Amino acid sequence: MADQNTDLDHYTALRADIARAAKDCARDPSSITLTCVTKTIEGARLEPFIAAGHRVFGENRVQEALGKWPALRDIAADIELHLIGPLQSNKARQAIEAFDVIETVDRPKIAAALAQEVQHLGRTPSLYVQVNIGEEPQKAGVAPRDADAFIAQCTREFALPIEGLMCIPPEGQQASPYFALARVIAQRNGLAKLSMGMSGDWPLAVQLGATHIRVGSAIFGARAPITLR
Ligand SMILES: *Cc1c(COP(=O)(O)O)cnc(C)c1O
Repeated sequence: MADQNTDLDHYTALRADIARAAKDCARDPSSITLTCVTKTIEGARLEPFIAAGHRVFGENRVQEALGKWPALRDIAADIELHLIGPLQSNKARQAIEAFDVIETVDRPKIAAALAQEVQHLGRTPSLYVQVNIGEEPQKAGVAPRDADAFIAQCTREFALPIEGLMCIPPEGQQASPYFALARVIAQRNGLAKLSMGMSGDWPLAVQLGATHIRVGSAIFGARAPITLR
């Protein structure tokens, strides 16, 4: 197991890199939020991050978040937890209870389930639509050509305010055109938040307008293999 100082060292170096990357493209570093992706990382390893003042974290499974984060939220009430993995409609209630931001709204069935639970719970998390920016059959997300209509449907039919877009470009390809397309879709729909860029490609995402980058392995080291959707 990696020791905690090493995690924080990686984190500190990454923050400096983000600040430098932002300045290089004339962006204010504070306009870029680092979402620390903590899937598979046990709670004890995250306490130093909270103690150091970090607040924004991402998990890809509802169940894992429910097990891990209630105790961590006791340390700091203002933690902002993002769901960045696929959501099933029968987990909508748990997701709204566990997360402050849900980045993976991607189909009417999910939007309908979220709308129902928002009413029931009286709590609306911040919501992003996931776009399958490379139109990959194995990946979640609405197709780019359907994004405008789906965002409008969320707003009008389900009364769900959509604040942003999330995307994961195809692996092993130049990410720039995908990031650029995501930005165009966000802009034309008036969405202020753009979640894109991971350990391997975040500098490019910063150049192309990301407001949120989601970084895991560059901080915590390699995880056991998992399936990305
Ligand atoms: C795991 C994950 C990340 C972080 O990936 P790293 O390459 O470890 O930085 C970002 N986004 C999503 C949706 C993920 O599932």
